[in-house]
Parts: sequence; structure tokens; C-alpha cells
Amino acid sequence: MLAPFPGAGETRRTGVRRLPPCYPLAPVNDAVTTLSEALEAAGSGLVLVITGAGVSVASGIPTFRGDDPDAIWKRDVTELGTYRYFRQDPVGSWSWYLSRFETVLTARPNAAHEALAGLERWQLARGGDFLLVTQNIDTLHEDAGSKRLVKVHGSADRVRCARDGCRYGAPSGSLPRSEIDLDAFLRDPSAANLPRCPECGDVLRQHVLWFDEYYQGHTDYQFGRVGEALERMALLLFVGTSFSVGVTEMALRSAMLWKTPTFSVDPSSTLASSRLTSLAVRSEELLPAVCQRLGAPTRGLDSAGLRP
Ligand SMILES: [Zn+2]
Repeated sequence: MLAPFPGAGETRRTGVRRLPPCYPLAPVNDAVTTLSEALEAAGSGLVLVITGAGVSVASGIPTFRGDDPDAIWKRDVTELGTYRYFRQDPVGSWSWYLSRFETVLTARPNAAHEALAGLERWQLARGGDFLLVTQNIDTLHEDAGSKRLVKVHGSADRVRCARDGCRYGAPSGSLPRSEIDLDAFLRDPSAANLPRCPECGDVLRQHVLWFDEYYQGHTDYQFGRVGEALERMALLLFVGTSFSVGVTEMALRSAMLWKTPTFSVDPSSTLASSRLTSLAVRSEELLPAVCQRLGAPTRGLDSAGLRP
């Protein structure tokens, strides 16, 4: 039984130092060699990948937080991305999400998403184990073909009933966003037009982990599966994560405890630790090259997400 763990807004100390952002980008070839050799050395063990907003930037999705000038949640994040705000102002909460989800739901996978799906197939084909945990609520990993996937912060393409215990609510219910009629609300965003649960009539909500909620709040977040993976991972790879939310901090602490080889792919990385190899290159450049070197099959996107 896992102890309750704070939700997406929590920051914890891990002993990782943050350096001034003045380090030159590592040559891509060196990073390819480093990561490829580590992946090969992981053998039949579990390769655990944790992705954050950085992996979707090349698909045109602004980061939800951080220093990116286009970061969606840069302002008012702790107020708007909360259950408390939803209960205080459900019309405002729905309007806020609808104004932002169009970009999220129409984006296409880039070469990094494709490469991670290829890496999964490569690892499984050689008898190994693989799990991809994403903090992102977009659907780009599954669109790219990832199967062993945990969406630990929920998914933008689903909604759920706000009433716990309802068939379509927590702890395990949800329904596809495409099945609900939002036309009336889009025409006239008002309390009378809020989307309603087809089972009980309560208000529907986003199927995402809010900042004042817990990973254990819904079975779809699969927090137990993540915790189990952290106990037996042979290699830990962060891609585009900010290390400022709960699951990355927890994974980093587990990796330090078990001395797991750990890598972070982030072009703006300022992390330094004796237990973490920081690869300051773009994931959409590095990961396809790693796949190519390993002989992992990808669907042939270039770094801009375009098929040749
Ligand atoms: Zn309901």
C-alpha cells in the first residue's frame, strides 16, 4: 500500500542541484552514444521513461508550467487548475479548459513520441520490460503507438462525472470527451448549459489530476503501477520534465536509493547530480538517432514530425 502522495503541485527536495543555465549543449553524437549504450546495458530489465511537457513542445503544445513564455498555466495555475476552482466556478473552469484544449487535442506526435514508441517495441522484442509514464494530458504518446503507457495526470480526451461513486466518476469511471455535447455550452457558457453526466445528471469535469488532488484519486492514473515500476527499474529516462511535480521527484529519489542509471533529456537542463546524466539536447533529435543506432523500428518522422 503506497502512502498518500501529494498531487501535481508539490515540490520536494531531492539533493539535485540546479546550475545556472550557462552550459553549452552537449554534442548530439555523444548523447546518442551515452544513451544507446545504457539502454543496451539495461538488458531484459525494466526501462522506465517519464515524459513531461517538453516532449510535446515540438508538436506545438505550449508547456503547462515553467519558464516558457507561452506556458499555459504560468499565471493563476494554483487557482485555475484546482478542484476548488471547479466547484466555485464550474463555468469558468470549463471555459478555461475549452479555450486551451483545442491545441492539445489537435496536435500531432513529433519524432520524439515516435521514437519512444519504437524504443518500447525494441525493448519488448528483446525480452525486456518497458513502461512510459507521462505527465502530459495530450494523446500524442498513444497516437504515436505507445502501448505500455501510464497517463499519471489524466487525459484531455476524456471527462468524468464530478460525483464520486457514479458509474462515470471516480474512483474508476470516465467517458470520452467526443461523446458529450458541448455545443450549447460553447454557444452560451452558462451554468444551465454545463455538460452533464448521462448517468446521474451531475456536472461533468475534466479527467485530469488537479493541483489540489491526489494520484490515488482515480484508478486511471495508475499510481500503484508507477510505484511498482520504481521498485524494479533497470534504467530511468526523463524526457522534457521539469522536476517540479510529484512523480518526477519521487522517481528521482527512488533512482538515487537503488542507484539506478538515470538520464534526463532536456535542451534547457540545468540539473547536475552524480546520479543523473543530463543530456542537454532536443528529444526530437536525440531519440530518433538512438533508435536508429539500436535498430529500433520507428515510423520514419523527422524531427519536425513530418514524414519524408
Ligand atoms: Zn454521474
